[in-house]
Amino acid sequence: MAELTPVGRFAPTPSGRMHLGNVFSALLAWLSVRSRGGRMILRMEDLDTQRTSAEFAETLREDLRWLGLDYDLETPAQSTRKQAYDRAFAALEARGLVYPCYCTRSQLHSVNAPHLSDGTYVYPGTCRSLTEAQRAAFTRPPAWRVMVDSREWVVQDRVQGEYRCVLSRDCGDMVVRRADGVYVYQLAVTVDDGEAGVTEVVRGMDLLSSAPRQMYLQELLGLPHPEYAHVPMLLAADGRRLSKRDRDLDLGELQKRMTPQQLTGWLAHAAGLIARAEAVSPRELAKEFSWDKIHGAQITVDTQALLQNG
Ligand code: GLU
Repeated sequence: MAELTPVGRFAPTPSGRMHLGNVFSALLAWLSVRSRGGRMILRMEDLDTQRTSAEFAETLREDLRWLGLDYDLETPAQSTRKQAYDRAFAALEARGLVYPCYCTRSQLHSVNAPHLSDGTYVYPGTCRSLTEAQRAAFTRPPAWRVMVDSREWVVQDRVQGEYRCVLSRDCGDMVVRRADGVYVYQLAVTVDDGEAGVTEVVRGMDLLSSAPRQMYLQELLGLPHPEYAHVPMLLAADGRRLSKRDRDLDLGELQKRMTPQQLTGWLAHAAGLIARAEAVSPRELAKEFSWDKIHGAQITVDTQALLQNG
């Protein structure tokens, strides 16, 4: 059977300037698709309207242009997609898979709630079996959770290898719609990727645990599973993950010090794609791209060396 044309996506949150880690993920997502003649989609993940803005979205587009990371289509931003998420929610509701949850934040985070070693908690199913009468007694609007089960999901990640997860043990019933009516990331991503025909998801390693959650929702909504590649995180010298607070490594600063080819060369070298951090364009790199060359270990950024490279 002929291989399907790959469809990948950039799915940035327009809440600030892209930093080096965002550029790293975007470059690898682009290379994976373009090296095999695939299509690239851009989607603004702006569900959190308090933190995101149209200005940041426009700067993101300009930054992708500067980098030479083109895309074929920009699909509608998540803030405009409520109807599509409503439909998915209704499909889950029709099958009796969602229920209202009235737990308060402090109940969820109380010391008695089961917590995993990384600090996240497992929802113990408190509201799953409330009776209609008990539900009717609450006056505040509920969040809505989807019931999970105890099957084991195995993600075959192109970079991280096998990742296993049992949702009932590792996460518990998941919120799909918040009490204020806003749909959560997991549902929105699943619906958007499915509707856009995305065949591969490339993003930072910090989202690896989201993959089985999204695979479960894909299954419930009758959507195919994409392939996954969770790429290494970039760390500052003191071991913290780079974030939008690392102003010195955001694109605004980097653009003053380096050409896009120099930055691409540095990132490609950090990823394990090329032997030396020499200037190169994404197009040139695409000719030799292979996931086999990408290592999974976190990358500590030597800011001095990076900027001297420029
Ligand atoms: N919007 C997320 C971010 O900017 C990425 C989500 C995804 O790629 O699935 O971190």
